[in-house]
Amino acid sequence: MTTAQTYDIAVIGGGFAGVTAARELRQAGHRVILLEARDRLGGRTWYEKDRIAGFDVEMGGGWLGDDEKYAMAEVNRYSIPLLRDEEAPSKFLWRCTAGIREGMLPVPFSQLGTLEAAIGRLQTAASRVSEQMFIDGTGLDTVADLDVPLPTLFEDLDLPAETAGVLEGFWAGISSAEWSQMSVLHAARLIAGSGGTFMGFMGTVMLGPRFANGTGELIAAIAQDAAVETRLNTVVTKIVSTTDAVDVFVGQDQYTVQAVVCTVPVHALRHIEFEPPLSPRKHEGLEAGHSGKGFKLWMAVRNATGGVFSLGAPGPFNHLFTVDEREDVALLVGFGPDDCPDPNNLDQIQQMLREYLPEAQVVAADAHDWRADPYSESTWAVYPAGFTTEYEQALRATESRVVFAGSDVSEVRPGYIDGAIESGIRAARDASQLTDPANLPEPQPAHAQAHAH
Ligand SMILES: Cc1cc2nc3c(=O)[nH]c(=O)nc-3n(C[C@H](O)[C@H](O)[C@H](O)COP(=O)(O)OP(=O)(O)OC[C@H]3O[C@@H](n4cnc5c(N)ncnc54)[C@H](O)[C@@H]3O)c2cc1C
Repeated sequence: MTTAQTYDIAVIGGGFAGVTAARELRQAGHRVILLEARDRLGGRTWYEKDRIAGFDVEMGGGWLGDDEKYAMAEVNRYSIPLLRDEEAPSKFLWRCTAGIREGMLPVPFSQLGTLEAAIGRLQTAASRVSEQMFIDGTGLDTVADLDVPLPTLFEDLDLPAETAGVLEGFWAGISSAEWSQMSVLHAARLIAGSGGTFMGFMGTVMLGPRFANGTGELIAAIAQDAAVETRLNTVVTKIVSTTDAVDVFVGQDQYTVQAVVCTVPVHALRHIEFEPPLSPRKHEGLEAGHSGKGFKLWMAVRNATGGVFSLGAPGPFNHLFTVDEREDVALLVGFGPDDCPDPNNLDQIQQMLREYLPEAQVVAADAHDWRADPYSESTWAVYPAGFTTEYEQALRATESRVVFAGSDVSEVRPGYIDGAIESGIRAARDASQLTDPANLPEPQPAHAQAHAH
């Protein structure tokens, strides 16, 4: 079926970037269609009630940071309740090549100075970057020396095992990959985005609130406010741009619009055919991809109550902690850099967990394999060495009448819900400029908008 020009703008992807862009466009007076491949909105956020041993969990993104201004603005706008986990864990575990240490201090007392020196390097790097650099590339050449693998920043410090383990574990957890797969520049940018201090950034990612009723509540609030035509189970396969229109193909079906906001994750974007082809630099960037490929694993566990917090590398979990407890069962979440473990293989998961908690008995586990999922093929965007200098501007650049958005290419805080929302707002503004409201066709009768999917 070919639709008439019933819509001005098509938004592809119904994650945070897509629903935000749809709302902004609709509120600017455009006729918008939202096309989503999955059978639900939310994308890489996915709240499931009663998913594991009676606990409700976020299978994807779930935590916010107090300094995430785009995400917090939406939370406040719709009065979305947040939850804070304020009870301190009773057990702190720190992993490194020498094994696991228990105690409050992340490194032995004698290594605190070395840890501070390493953190100082991160902060110095952060002091050299500005938000504007990533927005338009201004001055990016002055920090090209930072676009190198993260461990190189500490090479000459000769870090003792414990300090190296904690630093590596923290950054691998942030990376959803090995820490060598994150650029110093990316780490510096994240720290700069949290006031320029490492502790500020750590607070954002480790002490931030989560959604009391799940991310789905905010997604639904934005989508309801947007009130745009939405097609689920609708996989866009091809986008053809001409001088004054864009044809968006969903199998045999076609939507003709004046502009497109494409929020498809970088790794999934490789599967959409573009005519004319994407710029060579964007194409290379898509092929190179980002690093986020690890797992987030939920575990319902006996003999593990009292609250645990573990950080360090190497190990199956870079970061492991208690999220909830009910009677004698604790709900733990673990992040690791490797392929997603099979959540049905409780023996394997128990073995992984017992490296940290020898008495633990895993009664249930669950995870979504975001890397194997064709609509994400990754967890969250983490830029490896060279990525920002080589590809970032090109990946975000509008091509023909297609505006690119999503947290994978956001100007602010890439990889986070905050970045997804920022990119949706920015893309709506850019797409609006590609249309000319004075020349829009008359709205079609309602029956012409109906579309089977
Ligand atoms: C395990 C995990 C943990 C995370 N933890 C956090 C966290 O605690 N805090 C945080 O801020 N962030 C976290 N993130 C990252 C955060 O979830 C994402 O950055 C953000 O949700 C991405 O939003 P988006 O709209 O840019 O992309 P997505 O949510 O991926 O939305 C893109 C949409 O495009 C759709 N799509 C793909 N291909 C097509 C196609 N061909 N046609 C039509 N539609 C298509 C997809 O189905 C999807 O709905 C986490 C992510 C994961 C996976």
